Amino acid sequence: MACYQEITCPTCGSHHIMKSGLSTRGVQRYRCQQQDCATKTFMLDYYYKAYEPGIKEQIVEMAINSSGIRDTARVLNINKNTVINTLKKNRTVLSM
Ligand SMILES: [Zn+2]
Repeated sequence: MACYQEITCPTCGSHHIMKSGLSTRGVQRYRCQQQDCATKTFMLDYYYKAYEPGIKEQIVEMAINSSGIRDTARVLNINKNTVINTLKKNRTVLSM
């Protein structure tokens, strides 16, 4: 079963992304195809970033300040699914 993950360039938001080998840690590296983009290669390590301390609290705080899910994901550089999952877990806090 093919699993498609939408990948966008963290700098220019372009969807024209090419795979560019693996990092030393074995994480997939991606290359932005946009010519005027400052980012040459990047990795999806926001997957790990979401587990850094304080991130979940920031997600909740941004939601309280009426930031959109996409805004929160972009600002914190994490996947929007992580934002959604975190907000679901913190529903009791948010309904206060
Ligand atoms: Zn780019």
